[in-house]
Amino acid sequence: MTEQLQVEKLSKSFGSARVLNEVSFTVEPGRFLVLLGPSGSGKTTLLRCLAGIERADGGTVRFGERALAEGRVHLAPDRRDLAMVFQDYALWPHMSAAGNVGYALRRRKLPRPESERRVAEVLERVGLADHTDRYPHQLSGGQQQRVALARALVASPGLLLFDEPLSNLDADLRERLRVEISTLTRESGATAVYITHDQSEAFALADEVGILEGGRLVQLATPESVYQRPSTPFVARFTGLAG
Ligand code: ADP
Repeated sequence: MTEQLQVEKLSKSFGSARVLNEVSFTVEPGRFLVLLGPSGSGKTTLLRCLAGIERADGGTVRFGERALAEGRVHLAPDRRDLAMVFQDYALWPHMSAAGNVGYALRRRKLPRPESERRVAEVLERVGLADHTDRYPHQLSGGQQQRVALARALVASPGLLLFDEPLSNLDADLRERLRVEISTLTRESGATAVYITHDQSEAFALADEVGILEGGRLVQLATPESVYQRPSTPFVARFTGLAG
């Protein structure tokens, strides 16, 4: 179900390096937040904390009424009602496209025809109806990322997390897949958090853009507001808005 994502004072250090510094934000149900920042600003670490792959040192993550991470509570990724799309696709090489997507339904214990129907339907939605039996090595980068997108969508998770999903693709394909990601995510109704270091990608996709600098969230606003009123010289510079 679509819910509000609430992150409060999330902090994380690796050794003496403070990678996330009391990051707080809220994403309203069904909204699309893009977190934008230069390399090393903490984007991946933040996303991994939301997913439950990484454990924060402090702060809370709530999704709707549920605490995903709060105090001693730290739910495993597969108990968080979320799915993630990675930069390197992260498909199982020994499974076909349909096998990879179907794997995301394994916990649902659906009757086999129902599960097969859902897999076929979502693969059709990402334009791969004719490639369901192909293995990852038989697919292009763009097709592999479409399989990963289908895998993320098939169980209708409430929260979708994207870790620079277009970075390995060429410019033309990036543009097309960006539109597909936006359309399919919004159709699914999921709340979405998407990280990128690419300003134009962020501004094209986002309902709201969050700018990270050195582990701090220095601005969170609509793309228009960031354009009109960058909160710091860094934001103006980084988003290419400084004169
Ligand atoms: P971004 O995604 O914005 O490039 P990251 O979250 O990957 O940023 O990294 C932020 C900082 O944390 C970087 O300086 C990185 O070297 C450091 N870092 C990330 N993961 C680890 C780790 N497992 N151990 C030590 N340092 C890490």
